[in-house]
Amino acid sequence: MKQILVTGGCGFIGSNFIRYELSEYPGVSITNLDKLTYAGNLENLKEFESDSRYNFVRGDIADHDFVNSLLSSTHFDAVVNFAAESHVDRSILDSGPFIQTNIVGTQVLLDAFRKHNINRFIQVSTDEVYGSLGAEGFFTEETPIAPNSPYSASKAAADLLVRSYVKTFQLPAIITRCSNNYGPYQFPEKLIPLFISNAMEDKPVPVYGEGTNVRDWIHVLDHCRGIDATLRKGAIGEVYNFGGNSEMQNIKITKLLLGLLGKPETLIKYVTDRPGHDLRYAIDCRKAKLELGWEPEIEFQSGLEGTIKWYQDNQEWVNRIRSGDYLKFYDQQYGNR
Ligand code: NAD
Repeated sequence: MKQILVTGGCGFIGSNFIRYELSEYPGVSITNLDKLTYAGNLENLKEFESDSRYNFVRGDIADHDFVNSLLSSTHFDAVVNFAAESHVDRSILDSGPFIQTNIVGTQVLLDAFRKHNINRFIQVSTDEVYGSLGAEGFFTEETPIAPNSPYSASKAAADLLVRSYVKTFQLPAIITRCSNNYGPYQFPEKLIPLFISNAMEDKPVPVYGEGTNVRDWIHVLDHCRGIDATLRKGAIGEVYNFGGNSEMQNIKITKLLLGLLGKPETLIKYVTDRPGHDLRYAIDCRKAKLELGWEPEIEFQSGLEGTIKWYQDNQEWVNRIRSGDYLKFYDQQYGNR
């Protein structure tokens, strides 16, 4: 694995993954293909701008000609596909971009991949494709796909396309499905960074319904280690689940965050529940342990404390997102090239 194409590397998990790979493997070079939607922030990887092992290319994974010309001009050993529309609430407002990027984009990548001599395709997917659990049980890799939001349906469709390309064309692809991530560089529209940044400014934190929905939280670095293990040790055609063994009701995590920030619970504002809101996600990741030697290492409370500290130390990063200034970074860096 010397030349890796990472798509969506300017987003939350992709940027953490690129940082992880470049730090862990001095011999690895990464091309980051990102469309720079509202969720893509070049500033997430500012420290690699002058690193010869890192190359940024702006483009759309759903653009057939662009993707094919990139794969023709550079040999890649692997593709790791993070690029996606990723916010459930936005998919409820307008599912169009989710179909286009998450499904069509994956199909374009898969077709381009077929034509070139690439060893691995890793499709980064989500536990949300399994739908919702009741109070008991866990998602395993054998759990039937039953998505409930346009976002998770688009990710499930992409997973099924990947599966079909493995079966039909023997494409060397692997799917990962992970639970809710938290950590540095997460766009402040998702629960943990939104609540941290709102609470830091004494603004209300909006909790859906009664806050009883349960999510399993995993630190983004544990997820990145899992994707890395999949890339290097995963078996073709398999699915691997990753989770943090940290199930928690939304209201509990909200109160924990406010407590750690020293803010009052009066900041909690209960809002109308999300339509089709999945009750509970919980992950069985024994397969990843058995076959990849992977386990989550970051304990939830210490990971959360580290994340809060990161947002406190990087208020300028949040401010530039909230003001929209981060969108100008591309022109500043690449405008004259
Ligand atoms: P994100 O929204 O932070 O980042 C997505 C990135 O993809 C952005 O940089 C964006 O500019 C880029 N992008 C969007 N459309 C594109 C296109 N057409 N072409 C090229 N680039 C495009 O997302 P994230 O939270 O980092 O999630 C990354 C992946 O991991 C997604 O596929 C998501 O489904 C999956 N996932 C996320 C979580 C989570 O908790 N965040 C959990 C499990 C799986």
